[in-house]
Amino acid sequence: MRVTAERNWAGNHVFTADRVERPTTVEELRGIVTGNPRVRALGSRHSFNDLADSAGGVLIELGELDVPLDIDRDASIVWAPAGMRYGDLASTLQAEGLALHNLASLPHISLAGTVATGTHGSGIRNGSLATAVAGLELVTAAGEVLVLRRGDADFDGAVVSLGALGIVTRVALDVQPTFQIEQRVFVDLPMDVVETRLLEILGVGYSTSLFTRWSEPTIDQLWVKSEPGDDSVQGFGGTPSAVAMHPIAGVDARFTTDQLQSPGPWLDRLPHFKLEFTPSAGEEIQSEFFVDASDGPAAFAVVKGFADRIAPLLFVCEIRAIAADDLWLSGAYGRPTVAFHFTWQSREDEVREVLVDLEAALAEFGARPHWGKVFTAGAEQIRPLYPRFDAFLELRDRLDPEGRFRNDYTDRVIDGTAS
Ligand SMILES: Cc1cc2nc3c(=O)[nH]c(=O)nc-3n(C[C@H](O)[C@H](O)[C@H](O)COP(=O)(O)OP(=O)(O)OC[C@H]3O[C@@H](n4cnc5c(N)ncnc54)[C@H](O)[C@@H]3O)c2cc1C
Repeated sequence: MRVTAERNWAGNHVFTADRVERPTTVEELRGIVTGNPRVRALGSRHSFNDLADSAGGVLIELGELDVPLDIDRDASIVWAPAGMRYGDLASTLQAEGLALHNLASLPHISLAGTVATGTHGSGIRNGSLATAVAGLELVTAAGEVLVLRRGDADFDGAVVSLGALGIVTRVALDVQPTFQIEQRVFVDLPMDVVETRLLEILGVGYSTSLFTRWSEPTIDQLWVKSEPGDDSVQGFGGTPSAVAMHPIAGVDARFTTDQLQSPGPWLDRLPHFKLEFTPSAGEEIQSEFFVDASDGPAAFAVVKGFADRIAPLLFVCEIRAIAADDLWLSGAYGRPTVAFHFTWQSREDEVREVLVDLEAALAEFGARPHWGKVFTAGAEQIRPLYPRFDAFLELRDRLDPEGRFRNDYTDRVIDGTAS
């Protein structure tokens, strides 16, 4: 089947691969990989750029791949099919009395696609979703099935690896006993309080997000997801909301997860949107930049300085925290992180004009762009941001010497052989 004219979730990228294959067995998958010079796995298509494409090549969707889901209670891990969506895995685990440590804002993203880009939720003590990976099974460029486990030499380079090392067929994730979370929203926080106490605010509760449109003299909302009864939660000068809120002030809150301090299972509180709410396409694009948490307040001031240019193009900006990790290409590699996320209107040309200047201004903090979102930097700017970048290139070249999994994105952003 030709994929020409098929698009990503946001509709801002039209895939240029020749066709999509949907193997049902690992044997079939191995044949597709070795039989084609250019291949790449396609997840749930939620990235906002050409990362998942393979111009003139073959895209592989894994939704029909017959691989088992195994829960290993002794090891506290679940081996799950790579193409499974987080929401479906979360429901399965909850039925078994188990949980993941965190979720992203949207539960409809695939396991392998999410992990490949270092996708994260929030919480100063919570690593990205990729940090829960305990093992990977993948089909390499040579058609071999490679199993990597946490502690193996190449493991830290293979988890957040942009689909460049092979086609992941199963992912092992750490699990823990299920837990309850309650959610509170505070509105209209004084701007100066947020700027000066940013890290303290992001450290409250289990998972914390600030939302602003940068168009008001205050920060619009603070969402705190906490253990039930956590009395350290406070609003830092914001007013507790008496009604359920949408992250974008004024938008219908029907599809947001329950707030107003009503406790519920982790999977119904950690994402911002309900599992049963399935937006099939988006009228938005996103960008996100990661800085060392200690630079968070200064980076906040820089972003605030762009308010006049950002606000007219923006739906909402979200500020989150992520714990440091050891995954070579993770946005939080080696440093506790504050993430500045932008949900933009679908006006990509204008957004890119602002991004050129915003990225230049955030460069003083070594800001790393989210791999799956819109950014303008190329390999020259990206490579110095990751201390293990050269080790990743060595691993990639060892596993994929002929460049089977390379694409326009990796040429531009990783190898610097295209602009
Ligand atoms: C509405 C919305 C909300 C979002 N919220 C968040 C958020 O809260 N936090 C955050 O950090 N990000 C967020 N994102 C970004 C999103 O999580 C990432 O773009 C993620 O990579 C999407 O996963 P996917 O399955 O759609 O992957 P795709 O976009 O389909 O692919 C991404 C990459 O993964 C690779 N890949 C996919 N499957 C495999 C496989 N089986 N083997 C090897 N490589 C594979 C692809 O080749 C590609 O390189 C959001 C995106 C949207 C649209």
